[in-house]
Parts: sequence; structure tokens; C-alpha cells
Amino acid sequence: MRLQLLPSTFGQDGSASPGQHLTCFVIDGRVAIDAGSLGMAATPEHRENIRDVVLTHAHLDHIAGLPLFIDDLFSFLEEPIRIHAAPSVIEVLERDVFNWDVYPRFSELTNDNGPVIEYVPFPASSEFSAAHLSIRAIGVNHKVPSVGFVISDGNAKIAITGDTAEMDIFWNETAQEENLSALLVECAFPNEMAELAQVSHHLTPERLAVELEKFGDRNCPVYCANIKPMFRETVIKQLAELSGTRPDILEVGRIYEF
Ligand SMILES: [Zn+2]
Repeated sequence: MRLQLLPSTFGQDGSASPGQHLTCFVIDGRVAIDAGSLGMAATPEHRENIRDVVLTHAHLDHIAGLPLFIDDLFSFLEEPIRIHAAPSVIEVLERDVFNWDVYPRFSELTNDNGPVIEYVPFPASSEFSAAHLSIRAIGVNHKVPSVGFVISDGNAKIAITGDTAEMDIFWNETAQEENLSALLVECAFPNEMAELAQVSHHLTPERLAVELEKFGDRNCPVYCANIKPMFRETVIKQLAELSGTRPDILEVGRIYEF
């Protein structure tokens, strides 16, 4: 399984910076998990091959690139882009994004080949397929309804928390998964911003350490994503000082093989 966190933030020279404002993981060049930077950072190959987009939740940093991705491909699509999401997330997209005011309601539009998007709702705690992947959605603890995923291509299997604060169900469920190839966790804020992390339902390094104890020693690499770019250096330093599992930082743009 190949996984890439698409770039979303620019350095002073205009090239992609290591910071992460938006979330979009592309798996095997075919499936997007969240669509934060999908429209902006997708390569021509991504535009040709990605027809399945799987969403954790409806926050802007996870969906911002979806309208642009559909817009780019509108005239060329020979099959609809399938948007896999919880019913409540689909409701938000239709009501607040694809509402003609913010952007066109693509669900009511067709090109010469037919519909351009198709909603594929999944309930929390469900298993479904997206392209060649088997995906299990597990509810997490965020400010809005949100899920994490266990994703398998038949060989490798990875777990992604998405945005979350403290939780138990996700860890209990992933404990039943054997041979995890990697865990991707969030850690948005530094320790001194614990209060903001609390109200916005995110993690700090100290609180992530407690979560990783629940995950246990699974002999699988742990990567940290979704670090707020303004606090990136501080969070990375605090993660390096943890006494238990020290997650690696998931590098923007790098292709990981699991
Ligand atoms: Zn969020």
C-alpha cells in the first residue's frame, strides 16, 4: 500500500512546505482519504485515477479541495466521483457547500456521460469498499460527528484516527485488528494549548501519550499528522520528549510503502 499526504502549504519560494493546513491522504494513487488539498495538490495521474473520496468529517480543512477537484474534472468524467461519507457529512456538503451559493450542486448536474458525483453513505461502525480498499469506519471523539478508519488493500492494513480528542472505542476496535502496518494519529496543538485542544476536541503531545498507551505496544510504526502549522516546531519538539512511544512525523509529499 502506498500512502501520500498531499501538500497544502507553501514556503517562501513557492514550493510545498512541510506544514500541513489541509488533510488529504492518497492511497495507491487511486483513493483519497479526506479532500482538504485534493483539488490543489493532485497530480495529473491523481486526476485521472482518483474516483473514490472517503471523508472522516465535514470540517473545511478536510473538504476544501473537493469542490475544486470535481470542478476540474467536470467535463472529462466518464464515471461519477464517489463520495463515501457518513449521512450527516453528506447532509452538510449538500446544505452548506454544494448549495449553489458557495458552489454548484454537482449532485443535480450531469456531463455528456451522466452524473459527476455519487454519494455513497456509510454508517459509523460499518465496513465498506472504496475502489480496491476495504475500509472500516469507527467513530472518534471530535467536535462534530467524525470517524477514523482501518484500511486494508488485502496485504497491508493501516489505521487512521482523523481529528480526535481522547477516545476508547477506536482503540478497543483497532486492538482486534492483527498485523497493523501503521497507525496515523493526530496531534494538533502543543501542550501549553491544552485548553484550546480540549474545546476543539484535538490532542496535544501529553494527551496523545495517554492515547498511545491505550493503543499499546503493537510493533507497528506510529506517524503523527495534522499538526497545526503555526505550532509545528513546538509540537514536534514535545513529541520527541515523550517517554513512551514517540511517533514519527508524517512527511508531506513523501510516498510511504506499507
Ligand atoms: Zn476537524
